[in-house]
Amino acid sequence: MKRLIFIPYDQLSLNSGIMREADSTTDEIVMIESRDMLSSRTWQAARLHLLMSAAEHHAVFLEDQGFTVHRLTEQSVNAGLTEIHAARPEATLWATAPRSRPLHDALTSIGVNLVPDDSFLTARSEFDAWSTTRLPVIETFYRQQRARLNLLMDGDKPLSGRWNFDADNRLPPPKSDHQWPEPLHHAMDDIDHQTWQRIVDLQLPIIGTPPDGTWATTRTGALRQLDHFLDTGLAGFGAYEDAVPANSWSVNHSLLSPYLNLGLLDPGEVVTAAISRFEASDDEIPLSSIEAFIRQIIGWREFVNGTYWAMGPTYVDSNALNAYEPLPLAFDDPTTTSMNCIKKTVEDVQHRGWLHHIPRLMILANLALTVGVHPRALLGWMRRMFVDAADWVMEPNVIGMGTHADGGVMMTKPYASGGAYINRMTSYCSDCPFNPKKRTGEDACPFTTLYWDFLERNSEQLRRNPRVAAQVSSARKLADGEQVRERANEVRARLRAGTL
Ligand SMILES: Cc1cc2nc3c(=O)[nH]c(=O)nc-3n(C[C@H](O)[C@H](O)[C@H](O)COP(=O)(O)OP(=O)(O)OC[C@H]3O[C@@H](n4cnc5c(N)ncnc54)[C@H](O)[C@@H]3O)c2cc1C
Ligand code: SF4
Repeated sequence: MKRLIFIPYDQLSLNSGIMREADSTTDEIVMIESRDMLSSRTWQAARLHLLMSAAEHHAVFLEDQGFTVHRLTEQSVNAGLTEIHAARPEATLWATAPRSRPLHDALTSIGVNLVPDDSFLTARSEFDAWSTTRLPVIETFYRQQRARLNLLMDGDKPLSGRWNFDADNRLPPPKSDHQWPEPLHHAMDDIDHQTWQRIVDLQLPIIGTPPDGTWATTRTGALRQLDHFLDTGLAGFGAYEDAVPANSWSVNHSLLSPYLNLGLLDPGEVVTAAISRFEASDDEIPLSSIEAFIRQIIGWREFVNGTYWAMGPTYVDSNALNAYEPLPLAFDDPTTTSMNCIKKTVEDVQHRGWLHHIPRLMILANLALTVGVHPRALLGWMRRMFVDAADWVMEPNVIGMGTHADGGVMMTKPYASGGAYINRMTSYCSDCPFNPKKRTGEDACPFTTLYWDFLERNSEQLRRNPRVAAQVSSARKLADGEQVRERANEVRARLRAGTL
């Protein structure tokens, strides 16, 4: 009996799940463009283009491999699958278990046979042992991963005796001239151009600049990006992983998240390639950099995926800090603020749909957290703006890490900071009308005001947290507490109105 294999847009791999043993003589492929999905939101231009063009390239690639590929445009995925199945009742419907819950539920509701998703390095069953109210601390999880996968190990000890090089890494942007790695340009091909023309012709709701070759749309391009990162970025990765300089948007980051999340790259091959390059590098790549990079892939990425599945469908509705403010207007229109860090960061997202983790966490999510923005408002915005967005990765990062909306289940502290941190790690404050050292007054940095106000407002929830108890106690004793509260209320109102 023939199998019809459905491939969603984020499982473009031949090496995992059902495609590992697919056979072009007995299996046919189904790929569906869902009108519901396309019209569900205003898309960041590069993100929508990447999704559609990568899927189109993958369909052509599968045809070159001898597969028959049915490319359908339907109202929804299930409408498409039901229709094609009705026309081919002798065939059975199959897919790799989807990476995110809504599609998983949709496919099971119409009886699609699912093969486990083995594209992560950690089976979902390994997370089943954890209680949903007590996940492991990320550092513990990461060390277990290092030992289990036997990476950078010397027997049962970490190579060189240290698990963690954070104290040596995370430098601010250098004051002197510094040569940052040049990002790789991915020349757009015919399919890329045609896809963009289709987006324009369909008048899909988009925001941001048209695609310009920042993102590859094929596995070949993704592999080139991996090589480029290993050649130019990896050596300085650790040192500058948290730096936000004015003269480089990509710093030493790998820019691999979209390809990993679409299935164009496999995390195992990325880790293997990085470790081989480190071993062959004759100390040019420091251990502190390879360790920091490996931590992201086998630690953070796997931890986030495990958290998504372990926490269940109601996790996304968490709102432990009772945050109900709307998103500041500046997130959609950066011209409405003179906060230089927010203006530049939002412009960057609009341009290429990507930021490294510090602008995501310590600028955008930090503002949302300290203002008290509803977690789902931030989640919805990030989901439509980021080129690497997917439910499984976005929900824990926003609900657990960015907004502390889960009350500390995923992370042990809220990632709130005042202007001092942003002043140290970025180059934005010197061109800003606000003063990062001030928390009251017309020129007080909104981050600094909001930080103290946040600690005081949430002191009942946070005062027993050993990681922030001292700061909470200081916030409660501020001599200018009343003025901080007043200024914070004014900041919130002006962010809402787009006049700050
Ligand atoms: C509020 C917030 C939202 C985020 N949303 C997303 C998202 O939608 N999609 C996404 O892939 N990442 C997300 N991240 C994680 C991280 O910011 C990006 O993975 C990273 O910036 C991608 O750039 P890169 O590939 O150059 O990463 P590098 O810095 O080069 O890191 C290498 C890889 O590690 C993985 N990684 C590192 N940190 C994380 C993390 N916290 N969660 C998952 N994977 C991680 C990514 O696959 C990344 O490609 C978010 C982080 C925060 C704080
Ligand atoms: S002073 Fe405050 S608002 Fe201005 S750039 Fe610095 S942190 Fe951002």
